[in-house]
Amino acid sequence: MLNIVIFGAPGSGKGTQSERLAARYGLLHISTGEVLREHIARRTKLGIIADSYISKGQLIPDDLMIKVLASVLDNEPTAAQSGVIFDGFPRTIPQAKALKLMMEEHNSKVHVVIGLEVDENCLMQRMLLRGQQEGRADDNEETIKQRLAVYHQQTSPLREYYIAEGKYCGIDANGSIDDIFARISRAIDALPNL
Ligand code: AMP
Repeated sequence: MLNIVIFGAPGSGKGTQSERLAARYGLLHISTGEVLREHIARRTKLGIIADSYISKGQLIPDDLMIKVLASVLDNEPTAAQSGVIFDGFPRTIPQAKALKLMMEEHNSKVHVVIGLEVDENCLMQRMLLRGQQEGRADDNEETIKQRLAVYHQQTSPLREYYIAEGKYCGIDANGSIDDIFARISRAIDALPNL
């Protein structure tokens, strides 16, 4: 059983690589961004709150986000057997600490954190392209700038956090989707005791 956190700046390719990794390793893919976008589309109470943050490029507050993830995990009874790839969670240190506790409650743990490391000037181009192709409302220049600032302030310290935990595995995430996927797969296959 394998639990992976995929970590990186907005536009680093977390969603794309997570889908492929989920298929290759038989993992449940949990994307908190997707969970929130579904709520926004269904106009639920959570969706209305989430939209007010996402449209400004801000993070949903930790206490709410942690509850959302806990309820996703509770509704996925197979997660404990299959293993999970967490895409977009954690995004702050309190979220990482909460995830650790949640995993411990399920007698489990995060095995590895895959850090997608991309040159900053590529990120804006990738996200603007995605905005055109997928119509994601938060992929416009102003919101992207805010999301990158939030990433640097609140999310990037997780790299040091997971290095200290001995779990961080940095991957060069420049280049083609196939090449990046091959690099990640090699790193996962080389993990001891899986
Ligand atoms: P993503 O699809 O992962 O890029 O997420 C899109 C947006 O959803 C982010 O810019 C945040 O506003 C919000 N979001 C997703 N995951 C989280 C999280 N773990 N904590 C706070 N906000 C989140």
